[in-house]
Parts: sequence; structure tokens; C-alpha cells
Amino acid sequence: MGEKKGPILVVGGGISGISTALEAAETGYEVILIEKRPSLGGRVAGFHQYFPKLCPPTCGVEINYQRLRRNRRVQVHTNTQVGAISGEAGNFTVKLVKSPAYVNNKCVMCDKCTPVCPVEVPSDHDYGMRNTRAIHMPHRMAYPPRFVVERAHCPSGCDKCVSACPYDAIDLDMEAREFEINAASIVMATGWRPYDATRLERMQFGALPNVITNVMMERLAATDGPTAGEITRPSDGRKVETVVFVQCAGSRDQDHLPYCSSVCCLASLKQANYVRTANPDARVYIFYIDIRTPGKFEAFYSRTRKDSNIEFIKGKVARVEPGEDGRVIVEAEDILHGGKVRVEVDLVVLATGMESNLKANGLDGNIVHLDEDGFASAHLQQPGIFAAGVAQGPVDVNSSIQEATGVALKAIQVAAGE
Ligand SMILES: Cc1cc2nc3c(=O)[nH]c(=O)nc-3n(C[C@H](O)[C@H](O)[C@H](O)COP(=O)(O)OP(=O)(O)OC[C@H]3O[C@@H](n4cnc5c(N)ncnc54)[C@H](O)[C@@H]3O)c2cc1C
Repeated sequence: MGEKKGPILVVGGGISGISTALEAAETGYEVILIEKRPSLGGRVAGFHQYFPKLCPPTCGVEINYQRLRRNRRVQVHTNTQVGAISGEAGNFTVKLVKSPAYVNNKCVMCDKCTPVCPVEVPSDHDYGMRNTRAIHMPHRMAYPPRFVVERAHCPSGCDKCVSACPYDAIDLDMEAREFEINAASIVMATGWRPYDATRLERMQFGALPNVITNVMMERLAATDGPTAGEITRPSDGRKVETVVFVQCAGSRDQDHLPYCSSVCCLASLKQANYVRTANPDARVYIFYIDIRTPGKFEAFYSRTRKDSNIEFIKGKVARVEPGEDGRVIVEAEDILHGGKVRVEVDLVVLATGMESNLKANGLDGNIVHLDEDGFASAHLQQPGIFAAGVAQGPVDVNSSIQEATGVALKAIQVAAGE
């Protein structure tokens, strides 16, 4: 190997970015890991359980945090995004922009600040299903463990949290700052956002409170979620007895996302298990076009199919309407048995797909090249730029980690002057 050429920049601190950063750093390379949100973890930090084993993501994420804490070769910058990239493999110049968190590293999470905060804001982490205070802990698995302030919501002149903090950890005058780094190679691990369900006009998301999305269902089932893990109707908190899952909600549809996100069937099977575990009398209907559970996941599908309270109906949902007493009516063509099916249920879960973050973050153009679906496919990239996890295409966590590990090796080869 040639002379080491400088750090590897990893953009995105979800499971893929953390994995790339750790694999490269544990091999002896310097890594700069940037995350635009106040804490690492990405989407999985909001999940209740992982398919197919139905284990909580907390343990895997926590092990990674321990590896990060032990490894001085990874510099973590939260609240940080890429401003501009120039240069070439082995010698990129990257402008980074760090937004203020208004809380410094003296924060010990004593939580003296939240009780005095007069403002409530909808929680991003819980997809608006509950409010937090303007100053709050991002979530249970936040790393670094530090409060944040949503400054835009603070009443003018209010500094109650500053007076309440015994550690001088809050600075409401903190400002954004820009700085430049040099990087030998760059790994984009910017992940995904849920497809915007308000664009699915006939699904009534936003109009009917008991129509939610699959990411909201994760929070509804999570013990640290808005209902402490009780699966209840958002409209009135009543226990859910019947649920419909609408597969391919906006996916494989030229008017929305033309591709399959590859995990939504598995996510709904997992969430059907959440419902059945929470309420042994509950009845679940899964409306699907095809159930896609490739490879080893087939066993999980077969297991779930054996549950006679989970009914699989092959048919694309045509419309969703308000029913009696807060319930929701779902109508579809039953392709296997013929005719229309109408069911009235307590809760409808839209299995929306994963949309790439890259375009929305302005990271397309002459440095990172995107395919027609907005993902950074490997064959489109110039030397020294790589993508891992969902940034390169929709994948599950296991595949994300495997790719992140492979990409770490490629990034190392550039950093090593190979
Ligand atoms: C409803 C649902 C349930 C799922 N359940 C499972 C499951 O049980 N098991 C499983 O294996 N898979 C599951 N998946 C898939 C899983 O969510 C993904 O495989 C995983 O999130 C991929 O991780 P990632 O790091 O690539 O992306 P993400 O988790 O999206 O992380 C990307 C990170 O990059 C950050 N970022 C974005 N843009 C920038 C930027 N410009 N600068 C800096 N940082 C940036 C983001 O804030 C985020 O922290 C599920 C998916 C869905 C839709």
C-alpha cells in the first residue's frame, strides 16, 4: 500500500454510515463521520423491532456506539451537512456546514431544562404523534446523548432553559459555522425518507386520523413511543381490534415511486406481528399486489401466514373512506376470488416506500451522480466517491451493513493510495 492520503469522509450517520466509519477506522484509517441531524442512528433508531427475528434495534445500535466511543479515529460531527465538494480521488476538498444545536458538550442530560420550557412542538421522531418541548432529548438512543433546542419555536427573549441549566450547557446565541476538510475518499450513506403519503389522494392520509404510515406504526408499537407501546387509534386512544395494511402505497407506480422498496412487505409482516402480540383477538388484513420476501425471509412470511387472524388479500386498494365511529373503510378488487372487498377497520397502515435523501439534500450533480430513481448507483460514480446502504438503492439493514463494509474497503484503497 502507498502512503496514507488523509481521512475518509462518511456522509450520513445511520446504520450504513456508522458501519462504514467503524470498519475503516478499526482498520487504522482516519474517518470524519457527519450527520445532519442532532444524533446518529438514522431511521432504525425509531423502530420497535427488526424483521425477521423481531429483536429491538437498540442492542445493535448500542454496540456500534460503544465501538465509536472506543475509537479515536472517528471524528463525529452532528448537525452537519456538506456545502460543496471539489477535487478528485485522493484529494477532495469538502466544505461542511454545522448548524447550531444550542447545547454544548457540558450537557449531562439532567433534564432540568424541559420542565421550564414553555413551548410544545410536534416531535419529528414520532412523526408528529406527540409533542415535545422546544428543548428536548432527540430520542432514547440519541448519540451523542445531548439535548437540542428547536430555536425557531422559542418565544422571543425566552431563556428559561438557560437559567435552569446548572452546567452552563445551553447557549442560545450559538451560530452556524462553516469549515473545510480534505478527504481522500467520500462515502455517501444518506439513506432515505418515507414517501410523502399526503400525495396518495385516495388513501386519505392527513384527512382521517386513523390512517397512518408504516414508519408511524413503528413509533406506535415502540415502548418509548407516543403510546408507550400500546397500539391504539390516534383519533381516540381506543385499543385497536382490526387493522388493514395497504401494500405498495405509492410504490411500483409511475405517478409516485416507480420502484419496489424491497422491505415494505417484510415491514408489514413484522407490524402484523406487533398487532397480534399486543392483542391476541386482533384481526389483520394485508392487501398486496405480490408479497416480496426474498431468500431467507420466506420463512418469516410462511410463519406469519400460519396465523389464521392475518388474512392476505391479493388486490390493490382502490379507495379509503371514513366509516362509523372513527373506523375506516378500505375497498379493493379481490383478484384471486373475484369481486369487490370492503372492510371496515380501526386502523389503516400505508406501507409507503423509501425515497432517496440525496436529491432533496441537493447532493446530485457533478460530484455524486444519481440514477433515474434518485439513488447513487455504484456504476455512475467517479473514482473516490462511493455509496452505502439505502443511498445506493432500497435495502434492509443486513444488506446495508454488508455493503457498508464492502464500501469501507473501497474507500480505504483510495485513502491508501492504491
Ligand atoms: C417501515 C419500515 C420498516 C423497516 N424495518 C426494517 C427491519 O425491521 N429490518 C431491516 O433489516 N430493515 C428494515 N427497514 C429498512 C431500514 O430502514 C434500512 O435498511 C436502513 O434504515 C438503512 O440505513 P441507512 O443508514 O442506509 O439509512 P438511514 O437509516 O436513512 O440513515 C441515513 C442517515 O443519513 C443522514 N443524512 C441524510 N442526508 C444527509 C446529509 N446530506 N448530510 C448528513 N447526513 C445526512 C440521515 O439524517 C440519517 O441519519 C425498514 C424500512 C421501513 C420503511
